[in-house]
Amino acid sequence: MTFNDLGLNKLLLKAIQEQGYDTPTPIQEKAIPVILQRKDILAGAQTGTGKTAGFTLPMLELLLRAKPEKGNRKVKALVLTPTRELASQVAESIGLYAKHTPFKTSVIFGGVKINPQIVALRKGIDIVVATPGRLLDHISQRTIDLSGVDFLILDEADRMLDMGFVNDIKKVIAVLPKERQTLLFSATYSDAIKKLSASFLKSPSLIEVARTNASSEIVKQAIYHVDKTRKRELLTHLIKEGDWQQVLVFTRTKHGANRLCGQLETDGITSAAIHGNKSQNARTKALADFKVGKTRVLVATDIAARGIDIDQLPHVVNYELPNVSEDYVHRIGRTGRAGNKGEAISLVCVDEDEFLAGIEKLISKDIPKVWLKDFKPDPSIKAEPINMGGNRGARNKPRGGGSRGNGGNRNSSGGGGRNSGGGRGRR
Ligand code: AMP
Repeated sequence: MTFNDLGLNKLLLKAIQEQGYDTPTPIQEKAIPVILQRKDILAGAQTGTGKTAGFTLPMLELLLRAKPEKGNRKVKALVLTPTRELASQVAESIGLYAKHTPFKTSVIFGGVKINPQIVALRKGIDIVVATPGRLLDHISQRTIDLSGVDFLILDEADRMLDMGFVNDIKKVIAVLPKERQTLLFSATYSDAIKKLSASFLKSPSLIEVARTNASSEIVKQAIYHVDKTRKRELLTHLIKEGDWQQVLVFTRTKHGANRLCGQLETDGITSAAIHGNKSQNARTKALADFKVGKTRVLVATDIAARGIDIDQLPHVVNYELPNVSEDYVHRIGRTGRAGNKGEAISLVCVDEDEFLAGIEKLISKDIPKVWLKDFKPDPSIKAEPINMGGNRGARNKPRGGGSRGNGGNRNSSGGGGRNSGGGRGRR
């Protein structure tokens, strides 16, 4: 199948050609015809599958087919995303695909001044990409008019729920017209996602590419067993020995990200950290420096890294395993994107055995294990409770003594109990 076969306007085909895309990705092939029939969709697709073009192209096509409106320009499409980074990236992609159309896109998120956003909205915007919190500020200040919205897209809906945005999403939907098309994208199908779609989607078509909850097949995964106190040494060893030039490293806490970043610098490896305590400007700069190769390592927490789209990112390292199994799938999805090969390595100490068991259960496979001769774990070290940062440590105490392979699986509960009191951007 080619993009021509999908019946898209030549203004869109031109933009696609300029992006260098030859053929639609599986999600695009499945979603575009269904969206063009004006159906709601519930799509199971991770970042990296080409889902942004999957919803943007048919949306632009339908906007082009619609009769030109009379009077003031109103917002016609609203895309909600969990994080600022993802909002920026989605808006940037929409801008590229809409380049030859008359439609204007704007992005709205917190952590930056609200006035420039108000000025942009006043000028007339067709497509708004927003994070829920700041959008609600605009709604309550009446600086945005959403009464003309025809399309609502919930991008990475599972992550928005994880971040405690469910009520914000409901409040936003309450001010949208009932007659609209809703497209929900989620990497995982939890009960909460099913509930959300049952309340807001009209007989949605289910669209799935690859197995839900399956980790990417083109990402080579490995577990390196190592003592907690030697993780940093092992990471430096792997980066230097392998001559890795661009590595995204995940830590569980903001404090851990800062500390590791400093330690790597001491080891002579340029690095920067991104997490919720960094200003938007600092995050944008860190990401830009990493993309162009000015910094070799970007250390990130889960939420800060969500939606980061770096072409051909070769290495992802889990310095610490996530306590929520689904986050593992999201993390390793940063590499091996759009058909490129990638490698995801996890440094696992005895405290994390239960997290590992939960992850392997979720992805239904055993991840290959590596014990490096010089980094063999000391068998006399016993598992200790994991400090999750903040005051959540006590909830995550490993049970059952933490011996290897005991199959404990607290963290594959599919959404229950995670970050529930979380609010916005805690990680
Ligand atoms: P997404 O899942 O939307 O974040 O897209 C992941 C990456 O795939 C982005 O870098 C896109 O530019 C790229 N991409 C999207 N559609 C295609 C396509 N049909 N062919 C090649 N690359 C694509």
